[in-house]
Amino acid sequence: MQNKEKKEIDSFNEAKNFMNEQALTCSMPPIIDEEMLPDSSLKSQGKTFKKISKKKDFTVIEEGYVTVIAGPCAIESREQLDIIAKIVKDSGLSYLRAGAYKPRTSPYSFQGLEHQGLEILKEIGDKYGLYTTTEVTDAETVEEVAKYVDILQIGTRNMSNFALLKKVGLVANKYGKKVIIKRGWASTIKEWLLAVEYITSKGGCEVILCERGIRTFEPYTRFTLDLSAVPVIKKLSKLPIIIDPSHAVGQSDLVVPLCRAAIAVGADGLIVEIHYDPPNALCDGQQALDRKQTSEMLSQINFISSVLGKKVK
Ligand code: PEP
Ligand code: MN
Repeated sequence: MQNKEKKEIDSFNEAKNFMNEQALTCSMPPIIDEEMLPDSSLKSQGKTFKKISKKKDFTVIEEGYVTVIAGPCAIESREQLDIIAKIVKDSGLSYLRAGAYKPRTSPYSFQGLEHQGLEILKEIGDKYGLYTTTEVTDAETVEEVAKYVDILQIGTRNMSNFALLKKVGLVANKYGKKVIIKRGWASTIKEWLLAVEYITSKGGCEVILCERGIRTFEPYTRFTLDLSAVPVIKKLSKLPIIIDPSHAVGQSDLVVPLCRAAIAVGADGLIVEIHYDPPNALCDGQQALDRKQTSEMLSQINFISSVLGKKVK
């Protein structure tokens, strides 16, 4: 073996061992404190509404569970997020996704409500007792975003933005935030795992990998979902991995079968775009599951999870 090649393998093994040490063990109790739920908690439109408490000390990925994070691509208004958060809550889920700063391919597309979006996300997340996640797009806004959400999401376009990764690591460690890092659409698994290193080198925090499709020669789907990344990650590390089928295929009717496949191949969870009115969504409506598709998806993955001895949360 060439010296250079050996050095590269050694440094990768070192990185892998470090991550295994950093990996969190998952044995937390259910994340919503049931005693604290007021009777009126789900009556979102009622005047009697009270906030539902969320646990400060929670773990997104737990052994024996499939974590489903759902929500719109982007926060469009308070009303829009309220309706979707209610769907998420009524479906028995605990995690809400929604973009405030949207990194769009075209500068002429809707760029998100930015700071106002963060305020809405915090308000609605607190209202329904849902843990929230949104994307951080640059190092300057990490502290700001961390004040409003529970989980910081690093998007595919920023997986190799090392200044951002380091800042996210620092801030997540300081405030006890969790981190989802999507795979760069042209990144190898090794590059992805080394990107995690940039985050954890700044202190410990729960880091969740998210496979969201990679670019191949196939144009029929938006990207090609690399489901083999799941067993490969399980082989190389102890890090949890979730699947984002929405951005991978880009067509809502293809999302449900890939959700099934993701659970069957051993993913620890899903992050899925949903909307009550996909044709009129300001962003990524073509890939959003409507109410009916959301409930079909959940009943199918509940079934597959139960076969594997897991529960959906
Ligand atoms: C998103 O989840 O909102 C998003 C933009 O995803 P990705 O970074 O995978 O394109
Ligand atoms: Mn989207």
